[in-house]
Formats: sequence, structure tokens, C-alpha cells
Amino acid sequence: MKVTEHIEKAKGQTLLSLEILPPLKGQDMKDIITNLNPLMEYNPAFVDVTYHREETILEEVENGMFRKRTVRKRPSTIAISTAIQHKYNVDSVPHLLAGGFTKEETENALIEMDFLGINSVLALRGDAAPGEKYFTADKEGHAYADGIVSQIKDLNDGKYLDSNIVNPHSTNFCVGVAGYPEKHFESPNYKEDLEFLKAKVDAGADYIVTQMFFDNQKYFKFVEDCRAIGIEIPIIPGLKPLSTKRQLRLLPHMFSLDLPCDLVREVHKCKDNKAVRQLGVEWLTQQSKELKEAGVPSLHYYTMGKSDNIQKIVKELF
Ligand code: FAD
Repeated sequence: MKVTEHIEKAKGQTLLSLEILPPLKGQDMKDIITNLNPLMEYNPAFVDVTYHREETILEEVENGMFRKRTVRKRPSTIAISTAIQHKYNVDSVPHLLAGGFTKEETENALIEMDFLGINSVLALRGDAAPGEKYFTADKEGHAYADGIVSQIKDLNDGKYLDSNIVNPHSTNFCVGVAGYPEKHFESPNYKEDLEFLKAKVDAGADYIVTQMFFDNQKYFKFVEDCRAIGIEIPIIPGLKPLSTKRQLRLLPHMFSLDLPCDLVREVHKCKDNKAVRQLGVEWLTQQSKELKEAGVPSLHYYTMGKSDNIQKIVKELF
């Protein structure tokens, strides 16, 4: 079932959904399974699998010389999505990036997903490649996420890049896009960021998943502001428990968000990261309860590969 079909079927009940990372190259699926197994008893409606683009590394060769090599440290987003779908009989949602993809490669990835029985995809622009300062689109690719959304919707209408294909098959994808309650870091202002979100919706996006936030008021205001400019599709809150002291600096820097004063004060009182992890669970449990009471479509947890803290939260909620 598509993400939007799950939401419709739930008739206002809040669903559970998860996001996982593909394993690092050289690892098997053991860790993913160990972390997903305990969460599957709470019947997540869908599981997202992130996409990790290529990066350039310097490799030492002979005589102290170095050469550049392009690697992908977490390949196999589509394969992991399919494996999970088959193992757990749960719908999976691979993430698909504009960054590093030509339109032809995007089309081929979508054809592969369609053949594998995947019918929801999260369409993203992606960040600058590691080592680059600013995002640069492939010259044969999309500069923004709205371009991928349009390409997916074209495929749903049987429109391929090659217009000579005879009797083309129409795919049937449901498309999610990212939304930022605290503004995307590159946007000059919140209002313009919302307008570009609206452009993704006008291109055919079916639902939105938000960047993480630690203050529910940010999400409630974002939803209100989206509705005010005519964005009617479901807006799923993306949630992550705080787990280390270092994240007080890291999360605002990486995701351009504010951490509430009360939360920061409590983190400073924690004597070690074990205590921070417990605080993160308590904070996100409260956040989740309030969001569920407000009737959000799904509570979408970023597991980041470890699920002990998410298990504790989900146990209280579902
Ligand atoms: P866009 O919607 O294209 O927006 C990017 C910026 O450009 C914004 O500032 C926007 O306001 C602006 N903009 C948009 N359209 C236009 C336009 N037409 N003209 C001018 N400006 C425009 N990253 C990964 O690498 N892999 C993942 O799996 C992944 N999953 C994610 C999941 C979620 C739920 C979220 C919230 C983020 C995820 N990201 C992931 C991070 C994401 O790739 C970055 O935040 C990226 O910088 C922006 O992606 P986007 O799709 O929101 O871009």
C-alpha cells in the first residue's frame, strides 16, 4: 500500500513509521534486523530507507602520492527497501536524490523500484556532496526536488524521457517530499522556503515528512502556515530522540534547528551520555504524546541505526 493509502485507511488514527539507514559497505543486514525486529511488533505502516550519495576520498598510492576515488559508503537503498518489504511484509519507502543523478538514472531507479513492488518514494534534492561547499546538480539532472516530483508524476502518466517508447507502462508511485518547520538552511527566509514547498506540492507531491524538531509548537505553526498557503496534503512529523551531549552543537549545525532552553538545561545537568539518552527518550515521549493527541498522520522516527531508545518511546505510544 502507498503511504497515502495507509493514512486514509487509518481514518484519523496516528500511524507509526520508521526511517533506517542502509548498512555501511562491507556490513551485512544483521544490525538492521536486530534493530528492526523489536519495533515490528508495533506494526509500523511503512519504513523509509535513506539514500547516501557518493563522496570523493583521497587514497594513498605509491611514493607518497594520493589519488582521488569516488565511493559510496552506504549503497543499496533500493535493495534494502526490497529486502525489508519481503522479510517483514511492510511497505518500504526508498529515498531518491537529485544530487549525483542524471534524469536518465532517476528514471532507471524508478523503473527498478516499480518492478520490485515499491510504490512510495521520498523525493529529495540532497545536500552538497561531501567535500563540496554548495550543492551542484548534475548537468543532466534536477536542481531541486520539485524536478524529481514532476519526473515521477510523468512516469505515472506513462511519460518516459524517450518519447518513442511504444505502449509505455504507467507507474503508480505516491511521492513524499521534505518540509522544514524551522526553514531549510539555504533559504533566505521561512516564507520563501514555504513557497518552494508549495512548488513541490503543485508538482504533484502526495505527502510531506518534516525535518526533526524538538518543540512541537514549531510543527503546529508550520502546519498552520502550510494550510494558509493552500498546502492540503498530510504533513508527517519526523522525530529523533536526543542521545548525546555533543548533539547540542551538532544538531543545530547539521539541521539548522533550535533546541528548546528547557531541554538544553536538562542536558547540561546529565552526568553522562547514558543519562542524556534517557532524557532524550522522556522528552520525545512527551512530544509524541502531544502530537498523537493532536491527530498527526504518523509519528515518524529517525532510528539512525539504533533502536533501543525508539523502542522505549513506541512502547508508551502504540
Ligand atoms: P529542495 O526542496 O529542492 O530545497 C532545497 C533548497 O532550495 C531550499 O532552501 C528551498 O527553499 C530551495 N528551493 C527549492 N526549490 C527551489 C527553486 N525552484 N528555486 C530556488 N530555490 C528553491 N538527504 C540525503 O542525502 N539522503 C536522505 O535520505 C535524506 N532524507 C531526508 C529525509 C527528510 C524527511 C528530510 C527532511 C531531509 C532528508 N535529507 C536527506 C536531507 C535533504 O536532502 C537536505 O535537507 C537537502 O539540503 C534539501 O533537500 P530538499 O529535497 O528539501 O530540497
